[in-house]
Formats: sequence, C-alpha cells, structure tokens
Amino acid sequence: MTKIIDGKAISQEIKDELKAQVAELKEQGVEITLAVIQVGNDPASSVYVRNKKNACAYIGIQSLAYELPEETTEQELIDLLEKLNKDDTVNGILVQLPLPGHINEDRVLDTIVPAKDVDGFHPQNVGALCIGKPGHVSCTPAGVIQLLKRSGIEIAGKECVVIGRSNIVGKPMSLLLLRENGTVTIAHSRTADLAQVTKRADILIVAVGRPKMITAEYVKDGAVVIDVGIHRNAEGKLCGDVDFDSVAPKCSAITPVPGGVGPMTIAMLMHNCVRTVMK
Ligand code: NDP
Repeated sequence: MTKIIDGKAISQEIKDELKAQVAELKEQGVEITLAVIQVGNDPASSVYVRNKKNACAYIGIQSLAYELPEETTEQELIDLLEKLNKDDTVNGILVQLPLPGHINEDRVLDTIVPAKDVDGFHPQNVGALCIGKPGHVSCTPAGVIQLLKRSGIEIAGKECVVIGRSNIVGKPMSLLLLRENGTVTIAHSRTADLAQVTKRADILIVAVGRPKMITAEYVKDGAVVIDVGIHRNAEGKLCGDVDFDSVAPKCSAITPVPGGVGPMTIAMLMHNCVRTVMK
C-alpha cells in the first residue's frame, strides 16, 4: 500500500508546535516580528504574501507589510532593508520574489543581514549549510526533510537522488540530505540517461519544474517520491513535476500536489522566524 504523505497535516502540526512556543516566548516578554516586502502587485506574489501574513497571525508572530510600487528603485529597496536591518524590533525580513526586472535580486538579498534572512537565501546562510554551521535554511528543502522525518522515513544510508540544482531548492536539498547521512546524487538538464540515475533512488526528490515529467519508468519499486513541483494548468488545476497516477502505485510513499510539499514552505518560514529569537 502506498503511503500518501500528508503535507497539510504535517505543516499544521509544525505550526501548532510553533504557536505554543511563541505563546511561551510572549510570557517571557519576547515578541517576534517579520517584515514582509512586496514590490509591485504580481497576483501570485500577492497570494503568497497573504498566506505568509495569515500564518504569522495564526502563530502569534507580528507581521509588518511593506507594499511598494512597481517603480520602486533598487536603491530605495536597499535603503529600506538597511533600515530594517538596524531595527531591533524586527527579527526577520522577507522580500517576496520575483522582483521587477530593473532590480538586481542578488544585490537585494545580499543586503539582508544573515540573522534576519528567514528565507535562507543569503550567501552566508548558504555557506553555513554547506559547511555544517548553524544558519537559516531555505524553507522548501527544509520542509521536505521534515516531511520525511515526521513520516518515519529513514534518510541515513539511503540512495537519494535530487532532480534539479537551483539555489533555492535542488542545491540546499542535496546538502540537507547529505547532512542527514544520505548518499546523494544531483541530476540536472545535462544528466545523461536520467531514468538510469533516478531508478537508483530509495528517496527521489523531484524539483525539475516540468509538469508531470517524472513517470513510472523513472522510479524504482518501493521508492519514496517527493514532488516539489507546482504548476497550474489552463483550468486552474494544480499538478506537480511527478505524474502521480502512474508513479504512486510503484512507491512506498509519495507526496501529492496539492497538499504535499507546498504547505511545508510556509511552516518552515515560520520555524525560521521563531529561530531568530532562540539563543
Ligand atoms: P528551476 O527552474 O530553477 O530549476 C529546475 C532544475 O531542473 C534545474 O536545475 C534544471 O537543470 C533541472 N532540469 C530542467 N529540465 C530538466 C530535464 N529535462 N532533466 C533533468 N533536469 C532538468 O526550478 P526551482 O528549483 O525553482 O523549482 C523546481 C520546481 O519546484 C518548480 O516546479 C517550482 O514551481 C517548484 N517550487 C515549489 C515550491 C514549493 O513551495 N512547493 C517552492 C519553490 C519551487 P539545469 O540547472 O541544468 O538547468
């Protein structure tokens, strides 16, 4: 029987744990504040920002919303970030991506002080992950590790294959699996014979960004398959990078889309916000 990993339930469990922690911190007089900055009004970004604010409200984290016009200059945004960096009442800073084309994302993200970089995108946090030092970890891959652990799936010693090597998903995902003592292979668009590589996987993490690309012939019998992909078709229906219907019968466990990895990203963002006040 294939286990369907319930990301909604696991993310709720994490949010409830964090809510209790935040209530305890409040009793000790510690408040947590997250500054959320959106430039322009891309509709998808507005939905993500709204969901983040709602999660903050649920957990008891104060959120400060900065809704800046599309024509905001890079320097204006950097000036705001520098002000928030210095503001001791602000614990976390999040800049919703993508930014308008005239703003250099790397320069903006590098401006946020690493301690407040709750998205885990600052080079110092990425470097810390690489060498096993403490720091904020990119939320989506951190969420995948929680899905595996909280579903009782052992990572140590397992063959783990990650499809995708992006800075926000594939690379940190691979480093986290390595940290959990998995034997990790990273596949990408230049991988020769992808199916031959992915069929080695006990744990297959798919972050390829192509709807339903991974079909049954890429998957070993009994593998655990985690689908990071998220796509909306013309009718507005969501699907992942994995062809769920053909792959699920072959797996021991699989994440659905929606309701798998997606809800975990915000839960881990909230986790990173709470971490900012932990000594
Ligand atoms: P990117 O487009 O940045 O990266 C995709 C990766 O897949 C690249 O490394 C690319 O290789 C590789 N790739 C592309 N085509 C192939 C192929 N045919 N064979 C093998 N590898 C291939 O995507 P992201 O990492 O940002 O996101 C991946 C997916 O996860 C997307 O569907 C995205 O929407 C979703 N996502 C979901 C989140 C969530 O909260 N659930 C959060 C973030 C992303 P190369 O490097 O060689 O180009």
